[in-house]
Amino acid sequence: MNEHVRVAVVGGGPAGLTAAAALAPRVDGPVLVLEREARTGGIPRHSDHTGYGIRDLHRCLSGPAYARRLTAMASSAGARLETEAMVTGWAGDRTLEVTSPRGRRTVTADAIVLATGARERPRPARLIPGDRPDGVYTTGQLQNLVHLHHRPVGRRAVVIGAELVSWSAVLTLREAGCRTVLMTSEFDRPEAYAAFHLPGRLAFGVPVRTRTRVVAIHGKGRVSAVDVEDLRTGRRRRVACDTVVTTGDWIPDHELVRSAGIVLDAATLGPRIDTTLATSRPGVFAAGNLLHPVDTADVAALDGRHVAAAALAHLAGGVAPATSGLELVADAPLRWVAPQVFRTDGPPPPRGRILAWTTEYRAFPRVTATQDGRVIAATRLAWPAAPGRVFRIPFTLVRNADPAGGPVHLGLPD
Ligand SMILES: Cc1cc2nc3c(=O)[nH]c(=O)nc-3n(C[C@H](O)[C@H](O)[C@H](O)COP(=O)(O)OP(=O)(O)OC[C@H]3O[C@@H](n4cnc5c(N)ncnc54)[C@H](O)[C@@H]3O)c2cc1C
Repeated sequence: MNEHVRVAVVGGGPAGLTAAAALAPRVDGPVLVLEREARTGGIPRHSDHTGYGIRDLHRCLSGPAYARRLTAMASSAGARLETEAMVTGWAGDRTLEVTSPRGRRTVTADAIVLATGARERPRPARLIPGDRPDGVYTTGQLQNLVHLHHRPVGRRAVVIGAELVSWSAVLTLREAGCRTVLMTSEFDRPEAYAAFHLPGRLAFGVPVRTRTRVVAIHGKGRVSAVDVEDLRTGRRRRVACDTVVTTGDWIPDHELVRSAGIVLDAATLGPRIDTTLATSRPGVFAAGNLLHPVDTADVAALDGRHVAAAALAHLAGGVAPATSGLELVADAPLRWVAPQVFRTDGPPPPRGRILAWTTEYRAFPRVTATQDGRVIAATRLAWPAAPGRVFRIPFTLVRNADPAGGPVHLGLPD
């Protein structure tokens, strides 16, 4: 069976639900959200702490309350939310293969928004040697276990990573009666903002060791210890624990992008996009953490609002896919930028910001835009560039590029 809809949104997280809420009242036909889980809401559904909705809804909600709010907004706007419906592949340029308990079918849409999010890379992908015992989770797996399935975890945990999400893991462990005995970071300073890191350390008494990494996991059956290496001295020590949480180290959930043959960006591992969030395939757009690893939910939601404008323009007569325009390139220590394509006379990206990722800390970074070997603009920003969090660069920096020139390089000179 094939169903035809005006817009199909793949993924019912903050980005997908917000896109659907923005599109449904303005589209002359069905807007369908396909979500593989039994409930819409995405990651916030099982992230049971506050801190959601600040930039998009201008209020601070818990993850589950935020997920319910976005679901209600999409639904009351007129979008149809279909759960337990997994998109497993493509049967045409804008035809999706959908599998659900109701059977298999195809859905053809005039416009598609991909909003499948990102996932934390699990232990095997991080190449941590040692035994393969139970008790090793990503934050997502841990929160699923504790908040959705109410299962016990352990008594003593080591958390790998010191990002915002790592503190979310500490909170969940605490709720489950498990003490975090160590947090490790390979960086010189913890990746989370001091506003989270300092109270976290004081309130929970969690020791955070920077410039360290877990080099082995031990245990038969259940985890019994990890070996931690000091990256400055090479010295190793063993830490007894029964739980290990590997946090952060995100990768966009890009399987549908890959299987469609849509151009992937080699640095973000998300689809290559322009400032409208169009991909290389006409009529297929992308939003949220699928675009790059990884931002907060409110920013993903605002992507959803932004992408709706491009999807509407496409329905009204077509917009160019992200194949024409100037290329944006990240120079070290920047590792990636998004979007990767822009037109000097085109619209700005969501929130007027180019997003980037740095491997080095700079307190007040000077950012340069260079084209054909010439610095075309430079600015000093009042906010830091820090590893482990998205770094935001005003789009105005590249506005005056030569539309007929070469790629524009963004860099952080010393
Ligand atoms: C532990 C943790 C704590 C966090 N804390 C905060 C916080 O306090 N504040 C904050 O703002 N942000 C927080 N975040 C980040 C926030 O959750 C994400 O930025 C946000 O969920 C991204 O939204 P998204 O819509 O891009 O992706 P997701 O929320 O990941 O949603 C993607 C959806 O797509 C679905 N999907 C994927 N593939 C398919 C498919 N093939 N077919 C159908 N459906 C599919 C998934 O099931 C999922 O529901 C936290 C994240 C984590 C992991």
